[in-house]
Amino acid sequence: MNPAVPVPTPETLPFWEGTAMGELRLPWCVPCGAPFFYPRRTCPDCGSAEIEWRAASGRATLQSYIINHRPIPAGDPLIIAIVKLEEGPRMMTNIVNVEPVPEDLTLDMALEVAFVDRDGQSLAVFGPVGSW
Ligand SMILES: [Zn+2]
Repeated sequence: MNPAVPVPTPETLPFWEGTAMGELRLPWCVPCGAPFFYPRRTCPDCGSAEIEWRAASGRATLQSYIINHRPIPAGDPLIIAIVKLEEGPRMMTNIVNVEPVPEDLTLDMALEVAFVDRDGQSLAVFGPVGSW
């Protein structure tokens, strides 16, 4: 089992069902009218359990990153990043389609989602807009 591949839980299953279909989905709190991330059983702001899943735009900006030179499994350096989704929530992800060097990773750069298969799990990753 690859420790870098997340295992769905009841709270996160709708997210993974979305990535398998090439769709980035977010849990939205119905009373707040706002999405949040990571998925939880209740809204982190108001505590409501009235949650519905909606497709996000897939657009985001780069907020923070590290370049991991010792990825699991061993391979090319991996960019581990926090991106801010257009809808507001932040998400930890990998940045792809860009050289893993600081010169090519500008904070606030525009990103868009893509989906990559890792050991049978479809993961949401982000790359520069227009990079695929
Ligand atoms: Zn709420």
